[in-house]
Amino acid sequence: MKIRFKEAKSIVTKSNIPGIDYVINPYIGCQHGCIYCYAEFMKRFTDHKGENWGDFLDIKNYSIEKIQPEKYDGKTILLSSVTDPYIPLELKYKKTRMILEHLIGTKAKISILTKSKFAKRDIDIFKKFDNLEFGISISNLNEKFTRIIEPLASKPIERLNLIKELHNNGIKTYIFISPFFPHITDFQSIIEHSVEYTDYFMFENLNFRPHNISRIFNTIEKYYPNLIKTYRDFQNNNLNWDPIKANIIDYCKNKGIQYSIEFHHGGFSKKNKN
Ligand code: SF4
Repeated sequence: MKIRFKEAKSIVTKSNIPGIDYVINPYIGCQHGCIYCYAEFMKRFTDHKGENWGDFLDIKNYSIEKIQPEKYDGKTILLSSVTDPYIPLELKYKKTRMILEHLIGTKAKISILTKSKFAKRDIDIFKKFDNLEFGISISNLNEKFTRIIEPLASKPIERLNLIKELHNNGIKTYIFISPFFPHITDFQSIIEHSVEYTDYFMFENLNFRPHNISRIFNTIEKYYPNLIKTYRDFQNNNLNWDPIKANIIDYCKNKGIQYSIEFHHGGFSKKNKN
């Protein structure tokens, strides 16, 4: 992986994700290398045209003393939207930790979202915020398939253990079941394993993008060849998602689970929470 340092003009940047006012992305690029990643469009804006997503990482340098925690009071800040704040190299460079340390005192709502067990290191900092929630994203509990689609992210069981530990430390938790792979993602099983220590669940469908289509189909062809036609149907017609959505709603309502469905919007929001 090619690692560079890059001066950043700002680190807390305005967001157009519904329900999120600001995002913090301490890195450009991501070590996790998820085959479906939607953040690859970042290559166009960051001098990485022609490079493979997952082959580079820019570490942002920024005078974090400039962060004014009170400036974000009442707002929602997400870490992160186009990288993972707890990639393995965060253990070395500590950019996420340093930024969070400088935000202590804010009355903003801080939302952490990761696929990494390494977030455990910062539980002490999380506990210093008045309004912080911690989430993991997870697509399924199948360790082998997860290793294929998210090669360097933590194992599903490690992510669930992390959520449990955060909950036991008094921190609000959520699970972002994303991306939902039709006929592969067993959302009920994820909920059954985690409902005791998870405050709410969010759901996002698998989004087909020009840059990820071949990777997704090559993977399905290799590991689930009987689903190829089904996936073509999902790619071509969004209505195929409706029965899945209805099933999630039924299940969550019956079980009294707090949830929000974020299908077909290309990002995620926290509105319409039930
Ligand atoms: S963790 Fe997120 S940003 Fe990183 S590769 Fe996976 S989907 Fe992309």
